[in-house]
Amino acid sequence: MSGRNTATQILKTSGSSYALPFHVPHRARRQAAYVAEALRHGHLRPDGPFFQRAQAWLADHTAAERVVLTNSCTAALEIAALTLELGPGDDVIVPTFTFCASATAFERTGARIVFCDIDPASMMLDPADLAHRLSDRTRVIVATHYGGGVADMEAILALARSRGIHVVEDAAQGFGTLRNDRPLGTFGTFGAFSFHDTKVVSCGQGGALIVNTDDRKLLELVTSIVERGTDFALVRSGKKAFYEWTSTGSSFQMGELEAAILTAEFEALDENLAARKRVAAALMRGMETLALPIMPIHADAQTVSNFHFMPALTRSAREAKDLIASQRKRGIDCRQHYVPLHLSPRAKAMSYGHGALLEAESTWDRLVRLPVHTAMDAYDVEMVLEGLKAWAG
Ligand SMILES: *Cc1c(COP(=O)(O)O)cnc(C)c1O
Repeated sequence: MSGRNTATQILKTSGSSYALPFHVPHRARRQAAYVAEALRHGHLRPDGPFFQRAQAWLADHTAAERVVLTNSCTAALEIAALTLELGPGDDVIVPTFTFCASATAFERTGARIVFCDIDPASMMLDPADLAHRLSDRTRVIVATHYGGGVADMEAILALARSRGIHVVEDAAQGFGTLRNDRPLGTFGTFGAFSFHDTKVVSCGQGGALIVNTDDRKLLELVTSIVERGTDFALVRSGKKAFYEWTSTGSSFQMGELEAAILTAEFEALDENLAARKRVAAALMRGMETLALPIMPIHADAQTVSNFHFMPALTRSAREAKDLIASQRKRGIDCRQHYVPLHLSPRAKAMSYGHGALLEAESTWDRLVRLPVHTAMDAYDVEMVLEGLKAWAG
């Protein structure tokens, strides 16, 4: 981290009005050249050369049974929900502290969403609370990996497997994070990544579905759902002369231009992650020596984090608000995060009650996220630490 990113450079790339924006997307050097190449070859459908190249890279990276590049993480979760043929009478357990797509992708099938409480030490699904919410109706558990950390997959998979329940990993924030050297998204039946501009690796808008099953029926269904409900894959491979309507489906795949941008990002993943790690490590070291009245949420020792962001818990909601306001006054954009989904207008409109989820309710408004991104340098880290010191007084 040497040299100072000028504010104008940062503003140009993020559109933020803060001197230190909350997030600036990583832009790999070869993006523009790859997009130009895609326009030159002109094959812009979702099976073009960059689509194939990015998909092959991801297949190699995850060593999964199948990977599908999608137009969003939400789309990937929707493919999972459709493939599992969920519907009325089925329950899907979702942590209440997550983005609403973790629930909507499943809810729209007619399945019932059962919200689960979180462990405030990680802000992720609490396996003890999960155990109480399982029933004969439970078909799927959605495990959201929060902020560069990893949900307690050992405990979740143990509860799910003995009952024939599928686990779908919402790894929207977890691209690049490793658990015991294994990429997220490869533990459940399905995993879903996001390459939205707010994420660690982005192509504007995009995602991927990771399929970790060799069940032929599920694999065939994924193929036709992704092909908009047709057997077009057989035509493409020369096994059939014309395609027919075979299943439900939609237009879920990533376009060639996004795939070109994403290819450049995949090829620059190591330097992207290394830069994030330098910033996060410097922040954590500084925060430790300051002994602040806030508790950073760390990934554990078996996790290599992508440092999606730096979440920390204050002692009260008022303190969190005050911290965010004081940092913003200094030009540093800090953020709160999700309102628990069971408290949302959408959940309240559901015909069944969710009850109280006490841990989520007592932590969500104490959470503050500090900026971590690759446009930050040593000066920016110092600026954040100075701001925290001034606030703690
Ligand atoms: C960003 C995010 C999503 C949605 O990703 P899209 O690619 O925008 O659909 C879903 N779940 C979580 C946890 C996210 O952070």
